[in-house]
Amino acid sequence: YTPDKTAPILVAGARGMVGSALVRRLQAGGYANILAPGRAELDLMDTPAVHSYLAQHQPAYMFIAAAKVGGIHANNTYRAEFLYNNLLIQNNLIHGAHLAGVKRLMFLGSSCIYPKLAPQPLKEQYLLTGPLESTNEPYAIAKIAGIKMCEAYNAQYGRQYISVMPTNLYGPNDNYDLANSHVLPALIRKAHEAKQRGDKQLVVWGSGTPMREFLYVDDLADACVYLMNMGYDGPLVNIGTGTDVTIRELAETVMQVVGFAGEIVFDASKPDGTPRKLMDVGRLTGLGWTAKTELRQGIAAAYEAAHW
Ligand code: GDP
Repeated sequence: YTPDKTAPILVAGARGMVGSALVRRLQAGGYANILAPGRAELDLMDTPAVHSYLAQHQPAYMFIAAAKVGGIHANNTYRAEFLYNNLLIQNNLIHGAHLAGVKRLMFLGSSCIYPKLAPQPLKEQYLLTGPLESTNEPYAIAKIAGIKMCEAYNAQYGRQYISVMPTNLYGPNDNYDLANSHVLPALIRKAHEAKQRGDKQLVVWGSGTPMREFLYVDDLADACVYLMNMGYDGPLVNIGTGTDVTIRELAETVMQVVGFAGEIVFDASKPDGTPRKLMDVGRLTGLGWTAKTELRQGIAAAYEAAHW
């Protein structure tokens, strides 16, 4: 399978952390015809606008990195928008791709689609085997619908619309808002500000014992382009590193990278969340791809690119 580097490739959500990493990876790979419309050029919630954009630009390939996303607080508060906006965006893009004759498409989901009590590490076949975590159920239901939509168009119309499930991501263009961000950008910012203020302590939420897996977003983009280029046409694939760290270890690494030598203080009034969330990456490594960026190196690159 030889990729045509002049064919038009649409990256939906190109201004976000994931979409912008996909654009960087495609540009670095010599792809010459990348379509990356921003919100002002194309409102992904506007069905006729999306359909006519696709009819006009005729992308040969499409990456769907567009979604309404957020941390636990946003997911739980804006439950209606997380369900409605995400269903609408992906329906417009997936059905629109089919109408426009897009042959290969990649839909990006999230590890929260797996049942709350699924065994660890999370295997792709655990999808729809039990109830979801309630705080992000609307987001997860939309993502599961997107996966099933791709499968339905493949089964009925012979499309090659594949779905990938990334683990926790970090990197350039991440959200550094302290109240709404995920743990890694929060700790980078808190350590940096503590260093600048000359503080003696870094406050870390919870007990520090939960374990999480982190993937540098440029590695995710590389895996996505790899799967598209090899012509992968199979079921759902997890994208992660296959290893995790405790929140305490994470905080220590962030402090070393940032150069803040204070003491870690755990704020037990904040929730720990799920004790562990690790992806099984056997399917992905079986296809010949493994993550390259070591956590410390990735944190250094994210810190370098960080702005808030
Ligand atoms: P989760 O992976 O869905 O649980 O979401 P988070 O990335 O927000 O949190 C992961 C873990 O990091 C939880 O155990 C949090 O309590 C812990 N944590 C420690 N410090 C922070 C912080 O400053 N911000 C956030 N968001 N999480 C923190």
